[in-house]
Amino acid sequence: MTSTLQTACCEWDTTRFFPEFDGPVYRGYVDTLRTDIARALAEASAASALCAENEGAWKDTATRFEALDSRASHVSTYLGMLSSADTSNDAVKNAVAAFSLVLAEISKLRGELIRALSEAGAEDFAAFCAQPELATARWTWERMRQEGQKRMPVALEGLAADLGVDGIGAWGRLYEKLGGRMDFSMTWPDGSVRTVPMAQRRALMADPSRAIRGAAFRDGQVPWITHQDTLASALNALAGTRGTLYARRKQPHFLDAPLFDSAMSKATLDALMEAIRRHVEIPRSALRLAARMQGTNGVAFFDLEAPQLPAPDANPISWDEACNLVHSAFASAYPALGNYFAEMLEKRWIESAARPHKSPGAYMTCSPVLNEERIYMTYHDTIHDVITLAHEAGHAWHTALLRSRRPLARQYPMTLAETASNFGESILLHALESQPGLSKAHRAWLLEQEALRGHSYLLNIPVRFRFESRFYEERLAGEVSATRLCELMAEAQREFYGNTLAQGGEDPYFWASKMHFFITEVSFYNFPYVFGYLLSQALYSRFLAEGPSFLPKYEAFLRHTGSASCEDCVRETLGADITTPEFWAAGILSFEKPIAALDSLTA
Ligand SMILES: [Zn+2]
Repeated sequence: MTSTLQTACCEWDTTRFFPEFDGPVYRGYVDTLRTDIARALAEASAASALCAENEGAWKDTATRFEALDSRASHVSTYLGMLSSADTSNDAVKNAVAAFSLVLAEISKLRGELIRALSEAGAEDFAAFCAQPELATARWTWERMRQEGQKRMPVALEGLAADLGVDGIGAWGRLYEKLGGRMDFSMTWPDGSVRTVPMAQRRALMADPSRAIRGAAFRDGQVPWITHQDTLASALNALAGTRGTLYARRKQPHFLDAPLFDSAMSKATLDALMEAIRRHVEIPRSALRLAARMQGTNGVAFFDLEAPQLPAPDANPISWDEACNLVHSAFASAYPALGNYFAEMLEKRWIESAARPHKSPGAYMTCSPVLNEERIYMTYHDTIHDVITLAHEAGHAWHTALLRSRRPLARQYPMTLAETASNFGESILLHALESQPGLSKAHRAWLLEQEALRGHSYLLNIPVRFRFESRFYEERLAGEVSATRLCELMAEAQREFYGNTLAQGGEDPYFWASKMHFFITEVSFYNFPYVFGYLLSQALYSRFLAEGPSFLPKYEAFLRHTGSASCEDCVRETLGADITTPEFWAAGILSFEKPIAALDSLTA
């Protein structure tokens, strides 16, 4: 294919943010920002709660907060870009540390706004939201008010935050420290014994050799068993602290806070889980296929992330080819997305060069001041990296569509964050699968990627949710022992995996080895994932069925993600009801076709 895309440069342009790092323009910008925040904060903290008399002053504070927050995020994005592109730059690290103080001040300003809105009477609050300058961010004001109303009095929240440093925060740090230093003595299939850092265990458990996977699982289990009582104490303390705070904050159920953060209702969560239960045999069939391919009666927990088919990476895919693959997939299915991707390349918004000192991973970031997006990744010529590029381009497109909204109406919950990225991936995978002349092996590999993703979202994430729910229920009555945690975990695995899991194939210590259960900032770091995955699957199925006429609705949906709850957002733009299991079933059923195709290709 001859390239009409400008793919030559794979280092991003940062000079549109600031001409140079730590130069006079940068310094002047940060200094003015600091002074402006200090002034706004002093005025806001001296003001009483919102009422009819001070409505004008609070309107002024609210719009100033929005502008200051945008300017702060412009600087944060810039510093984040510089530090991922060169982790060895100490001057950038110092600037990040210095700027975190500015961010702390802006979050205090947000705190004052929350206080003013949550203490206001209903009529005064309604009048505030109805002002023309503020009405387009009504959802954000309502969320702030609700957030404030769920808080304890300021002094108690302050005490809880201070005690949390040596309380819940300390338990989280203990987990990180203990887990971070763990290693284990592994007996390799050839009989040699080597010490392996725990951080490598997950990659070893995805090794093509089943003997290596099994050894990494078995031997890597030992440190978790040795430290199980300490880890159980940490988990109990995390849940216990949350329980105490929830009671004080009048959040009666342990799911209230995670559901509020996800901007969704319990009815929606129940519908989602009900759909998975009804159609659990679909993801299970992907695992039966995996068992058949590896010649066993069932799979073990250590088989779940292992591909059965080799990646078609014998021919490396150049950056130029990768850009053309993504561009032509986007351009033929969704021309506006194709044009946007070409624009990103032309304007050098993508950083993909393989250089030393880059931080690992990939992300999309943006500046609300420039109204521009950036993609960060490191490209290594593999098909996985091409998929990552499409994923991040999907995120960027979501942000680009939100430019038409004011900054405060662009902030969406985690539940709605992965729709556009998965949609971008689906377009690419679909195009790759239907390439003429694609070899049988390559096609089977692509289908297996879908299968791996599918059963991980539809079985593994629900296991985590089920385990965590049962644990929180039992924790209400007192401490839960390590033995009981293992029982709860094995039960949850059996419930979702059924007989696809071979006898004794459970991982009862998954509660200890999975870091997600020990995150101190949020609990239930699981169901938003399956929500995002199934929502994007359901929307992509509608796109396949309805064709291009679906795209205006899809774009309206993405633009609305920062302005309403998940339920309202989907209902108002797509006319669908996510509180019914039928909505979610559409996403699960779309998974049948690739599994059937993989089945016949590997029969
Ligand atoms: Zn993503």
